[in-house]
Amino acid sequence: MSLVVVGSVAFDGIETPFGKVDKIIGGSGTYISYCASYFTKNVKLVSVVGEDFPQETIQHLNKKGVSTEGLQIKKGEKSFFWQGKYHLDLNSRDTLVTELNVLADFDPVIPESYQDCEYLILGNLTPQVQKTVIDRLKKRPKLIVMDTMNFWMQIALDDLKVVLKMVDVLSINDEEARLLSGEHSLVKAAKKIQEMGPKYLIIKKGEHGALLFHKDELFYAPALPLADVFDPTGAGDTFAGGFIGHLAKTGDISFENMKAALIHGSAMASFCVGKFGPEALYELSDEDVQNRLQEFVDLVQFEINL
Ligand code: AMP
Repeated sequence: MSLVVVGSVAFDGIETPFGKVDKIIGGSGTYISYCASYFTKNVKLVSVVGEDFPQETIQHLNKKGVSTEGLQIKKGEKSFFWQGKYHLDLNSRDTLVTELNVLADFDPVIPESYQDCEYLILGNLTPQVQKTVIDRLKKRPKLIVMDTMNFWMQIALDDLKVVLKMVDVLSINDEEARLLSGEHSLVKAAKKIQEMGPKYLIIKKGEHGALLFHKDELFYAPALPLADVFDPTGAGDTFAGGFIGHLAKTGDISFENMKAALIHGSAMASFCVGKFGPEALYELSDEDVQNRLQEFVDLVQFEINL
C-alpha cells in the first residue's frame, strides 16, 4: 500500500509584497511529498529534474521517507522553472515565467516498487503526463486525486477533459473552477465540473478556506486566520498533500473522512505560507501538526440549541 505523488520538482522565482527570491526550491510534487510525509511513510515520487537540481534536496526528501526511485535526473538539462508575482491581497498572482525545460518531453517512469499504489495524487503537470501515469499503473488505485491550474485549461483543455474522466477527486481554486465551467456561481460550477468526471470536487478559496462537493453534499473547511503570510506558493499543493496524506493514513475514503482530510489540508497549508518556498514543511514535529489541528477544532466548534 503506498501513496504515489506525481508533480513538478522545480525552481521557483517568487515576489510577494513581503519579499523576493530569484531561485528557490519549488514544484507541486515537492510540496505534496513533503506534506504527505507527515502522514504516511510510504510516499513515492514520480517526476523529472535537470542536472542543476540540488542532490541535498533529493536526499532530504529521502530522509523524510519519500522514495525518489521514480524521479528522473536528466544529464545536461535544466529543471522546470516558474516565476510568479503576488498581488497585494496574496490570493491572486500573475505567472511571469514558465520554462518547461525537462518537463517539455517528460515521459514518466513508474518503477515496479510503485505498482502497489493505492492512493495516487496527480499534482499540477501536463494533463498528458497525468494520464500516462494512470495508464502505466497496472491496477487502478483505490483513489485518484488530481490538481491542475488555469495554464493547462488555456493550452491543453482537450487533454485535461480526458484525464478528468479518469479521476475521483479534482482540486482547483475558485478562479479555475469558474474558468473550467464557464459559471460564476461556484455551486453551478461544481455541478458542471462533477459532470465532467470527478465525483468529488474541492474548490480552494485561498484565505477563505475550501469547499468539498459530492453530489448534493457540501462541506466547508476554513483557512486559519494568520497574522503573517509571506508566500502562498505551494499552499494549494500542500493542501492536497495533507488531504490525501490523511486519507492514505486512515484508509477511509468516505465523505465523512474526507471532511477531516480537508481540515488536515488546511492545517498543513497554514504552515506552508509562513515562509518562502517549502521550508516551513521541512521539520515540523507531530506535536506541531496536532496543535495546529486543535486550532482548527477550536476555530469552528460551537454549541447551539435549536
Ligand atoms: P500552488 O501555489 O499550490 O499553485 O503551486 C505552486 C507550484 O506549482 C510552484 O512551486 C511551481 O513550481 C509549480 N508550478 C507552477 N506552474 C506549473 C506548471 N505549469 N506545471 C507544473 N508545475 C507548476
